[in-house]
Amino acid sequence: MEIIPIIKKDELAKTLGSDEFENISYSARLKIEKLEPVFEKLVKPSLYHQNTGIDSVKKGTVHLEEGPEFKSPKLSKMLKDCDDIICYIATLGDSVDGEIKRLMDKKHMAEAYILDAMASAAAENMVATFHRRMKDKYKNQGKQVTLCFSPGYCDWAITEQKKLFKLLDSQEVDVKLNDSCLMTPRKSISGVFGIQSDYENGDKTYNPCWDCNRKDCPARRAPKRERKQI
Ligand code: SF4
Repeated sequence: MEIIPIIKKDELAKTLGSDEFENISYSARLKIEKLEPVFEKLVKPSLYHQNTGIDSVKKGTVHLEEGPEFKSPKLSKMLKDCDDIICYIATLGDSVDGEIKRLMDKKHMAEAYILDAMASAAAENMVATFHRRMKDKYKNQGKQVTLCFSPGYCDWAITEQKKLFKLLDSQEVDVKLNDSCLMTPRKSISGVFGIQSDYENGDKTYNPCWDCNRKDCPARRAPKRERKQI
């Protein structure tokens, strides 16, 4: 699927540890301006996705029709009412990695850091755009999609990345996995989300953050819901 990533200023600000783009230092903003055309020339985005049926969801494990099992209680709870999942890998290609390394070798650390942040924001944007398109597509069919989940996120072990790669034909997007389960090119994101068949009753997809007590989680996507006292 063709998706041109966009670097949204507020998303980039968050990646750089700031609350708003205007609060980033003037010199950093100048560097971003200078690096934007460089980034546009380097980026070679591609995204591969595949639907896979869910056989069953039991005891914190998602059993897929094609064989592999994903072990994660939170992912399982999110997918328990889904019939299928969509697995995906998105990448910006390896030229961005090469330029970040070149800048580091030349000791241009600030530029390398900013380009790295721009690439991270762009990769996240690519996945968000893909997820939004799928949400619209399935909404038209009376279905809804869950949140995205990636190996290494929440309680899903990074080692499960191997199962996801076995399932996907990753040759299609030319992303490789090393023994530590890290992807090359570095600016790649893999993950899954579920498809649920009951849109007419409104959005009923589950968010594991509603039930989670962790206070300091940087990945939190919703506040904890208080239980009603009876
Ligand atoms: S707050 Fe949300 S993302 Fe973080 S560990 Fe809890 S469920 Fe996972």
